[in-house]
Amino acid sequence: MKLYSTNNKKINTDFKTAVFHSLPPDGGLYMPRRLSRIDPVFVATIAMHSFREIAWEVSRVLLDGEIERDALKKIVEETVEFDAPLVRLDGDVCVLELFHGPSMAFKDFGARFMSRVMAYYLEKEQKDIHILVATSGDTGGAVAMGFYDVPHIRVTILYPSGKVSPVQEKQLTTMGKNISAIEVKGTFDDCQRLVKQAFLDGELNAKLSLSSANSINIARLIPQSFYYFHAYSQLRRDYETRDVVFSVPSGNFGNLTAGLMAWKMGLPVRHFIASTNINDEVPQYLRTGLFNPRPSFHTLSNAMDVGNPSNFTRMLELFGDDAAAMRRMITGYSFTDDQTRAAIEKAVNEDRYVMCPHTAIAYAGLKRYLDEHPRENVAGIFLSTAHPCKFPDVYEGYAKKLLEYPERARAMEKKEKKALLMENDFRTFREVLLAEA
Ligand SMILES: *Cc1c(COP(=O)(O)O)cnc(C)c1O
Repeated sequence: MKLYSTNNKKINTDFKTAVFHSLPPDGGLYMPRRLSRIDPVFVATIAMHSFREIAWEVSRVLLDGEIERDALKKIVEETVEFDAPLVRLDGDVCVLELFHGPSMAFKDFGARFMSRVMAYYLEKEQKDIHILVATSGDTGGAVAMGFYDVPHIRVTILYPSGKVSPVQEKQLTTMGKNISAIEVKGTFDDCQRLVKQAFLDGELNAKLSLSSANSINIARLIPQSFYYFHAYSQLRRDYETRDVVFSVPSGNFGNLTAGLMAWKMGLPVRHFIASTNINDEVPQYLRTGLFNPRPSFHTLSNAMDVGNPSNFTRMLELFGDDAAAMRRMITGYSFTDDQTRAAIEKAVNEDRYVMCPHTAIAYAGLKRYLDEHPRENVAGIFLSTAHPCKFPDVYEGYAKKLLEYPERARAMEKKEKKALLMENDFRTFREVLLAEA
């Protein structure tokens, strides 16, 4: 896989460089030069293949020549260690549950794949790195668990004190081994500032080999394309075959971009729905052709509170900067917190299914699309990005009664929190990091 920068098509970077640097130096984003097509015979017979076989086929086609086959196979097997089942709610509507991994959110796929790809290259060169992450919740949990006990990598996670949910905090602070957590007396922005400042500090970088687990890293997108194929496979296997539309709850649009990559690789998709909260820059772009990034608003679906979605440039790239072409393939809808709550209620009352606020937005988006296109004989799949038990404060009444805590959530609750409480102060942060080196 050769990659170019969205700011300079002449750049030709290999996969390894893109993984360790996350971003090209010119401020663009790395983009695969070619998305090879999956063998049409494989796609036609996809219902016969397991999730792992599908993931292996997709990664082999994308990464052949970059990572030795046996090693890549092992990376894929460790990434897809849990299922992503397709659950039917009613006739036309299915939910793809992406929360069966260790952190109970879809970000597990990206974090697990990326950590193992990094470890593969580090092992070859006998090098170690130290990853710094600032998190407002879900990203940190997936990174903590995805990088846990992975050789050659230390991880330090910064999170804002009192501003993450109890389940999220446990995920960040109970892993141990190569994962440590710092609870910052400040906001998420403060955490991000501390991390950015560390990357600019020459001495720290030299001593620790700092790296990031950035959400726009190409190694996080690739494994997210696996489950779109797997969803289609389950649809073909269990239900009468029909065209499929995917509704994706979106913030930075990594998940939707991965779906578009799967489509470009030959997955038959009729249409995508970009479902957002009131941070609706992309739905607005799809309506007007104008993109207006702005500061984000706080909402109930806070992992999607993004005012300037970082993968939007990649989406433009996939459609040759043509709003009309993008519009033919993607419809955008946005929903308020009240509409999000109403969607949660509706699914609870009609289908006895409890969904997290992010998922509820994808559900609402799919419902609206199917209402507006009643004659299309399609199956609709909406992506469930997190387990509802991560957001216990959202639910009341019947929903609260139905809400289940899986065994791994309860086990997590019993574990002891270990975090260093720290002032929002760079000099202290610096000393902490150097003491670990
Ligand atoms: C990160 C996240 C999203 C948004 O995904 P993007 O790839 O940033 O669009 C949606 N739901 C949950 C639960 C998340 O953690």
